[in-house]
Amino acid sequence: MSSITVDGISKDFSSGNKKTQVLKDLHLEIPDTSFTVLLGPSGCGKSTLLRIIAGLEKPTSGRILLDGIDITNEEPSDRGLAMVFQNYALYPHMTAYGNVEYALKIAKVDKEERHRRVMDALEMVELTDQAKKLPAMMSGGQRQRVALARAIVKKPRVFLMDEPLSNLDAKLRGQMRETITGLYKKLGCTFLYVTHDQVEAMSMGTNIVLLQGGKIMQQGSPRRIYTDPENIYTAGFIGSPPCNILQSRGFQIAIRSEDILPGKSEGVQLQADVHSVEQLGRDSIYNLQTPLGPLQMKTLCTWEEQDDTLEITLPYEKIMYFDEAGKRINPTQEMETALQTHAQELSEQRAYIA
Ligand code: ADP
Ligand code: MG
Repeated sequence: MSSITVDGISKDFSSGNKKTQVLKDLHLEIPDTSFTVLLGPSGCGKSTLLRIIAGLEKPTSGRILLDGIDITNEEPSDRGLAMVFQNYALYPHMTAYGNVEYALKIAKVDKEERHRRVMDALEMVELTDQAKKLPAMMSGGQRQRVALARAIVKKPRVFLMDEPLSNLDAKLRGQMRETITGLYKKLGCTFLYVTHDQVEAMSMGTNIVLLQGGKIMQQGSPRRIYTDPENIYTAGFIGSPPCNILQSRGFQIAIRSEDILPGKSEGVQLQADVHSVEQLGRDSIYNLQTPLGPLQMKTLCTWEEQDDTLEITLPYEKIMYFDEAGKRINPTQEMETALQTHAQELSEQRAYIA
């Protein structure tokens, strides 16, 4: 049972006389037994935060608490956490068994118990038949399973994982996602998982923390993050294709590609030029140019030949409104009318030019 509190963590890195603040006064609660995902684009500070929690990096200010106890100055090995890295970080001269056993040897666990725990951990990752192999003889997926077993065997209070699937191909990534969520369910402890991949975050996490530029943009369940983004950044980061963002007069709107309807119905109606259509089997992605700007629409794939232009509708209840700074707002009646008028005026201008 273990929760982590990130209490006002900041981190500066200096190179020469230039100082960059990578983490900016972060406050965060990582709940006990959650599968929390730190999600964000490359360079936003995910690894730095994870390394600070692991004790591999010192914060410039702030504290890390584990079950309410300040561990900011504790050695990494005293924290009871286990880390899994993108590049596996296995000892190349040790077999899978040896790699998993190593930490127990150092901790002077007796031989019989060591054997039992190593075999249990290897079994959990379905690797008992590979126990005698060296890392060089194993595939990337198998190596990452060894790294997972090495974490499991320590019986950590929290599992920390930094983009563990990034070096694997798409098919293996899918399998390993299942392995890791399966482990999470079996072990019932706290997982803190770093990724830049929103699909991974949405499919694995029970709790997502979206970071950008060293700040938290939003935290919540995948459902909450998807259905109720608090700002335009979160709306635009989640979804495939990403959420459409359009500028209107004095505010911005966002609408998901899957919420746009072909044809005329209740909502903001637009005439769209079809630039291209990706027919993906189940879905088709339309790349459209509309008077309000470029839009992507996702609908069920029909394999039909497409016209050059198309009527589409942005249903009122699916449009999300944001102020100019990107903060989510409740639309007023005036804003809805303004959007409608804006769309109409632009359509008429376009018709006139054409
Ligand atoms: P992420 O894991 O989200 O891709 P990182 O935490 O690795 O991001 O890095 C965040 C920022 O901090 C990057 O701009 C990176 O260049 C910088 N950074 C990370 N580690 C160091 C370091 N040891 N020295 C200087 N800058 C660093
Ligand atoms: Mg990183």
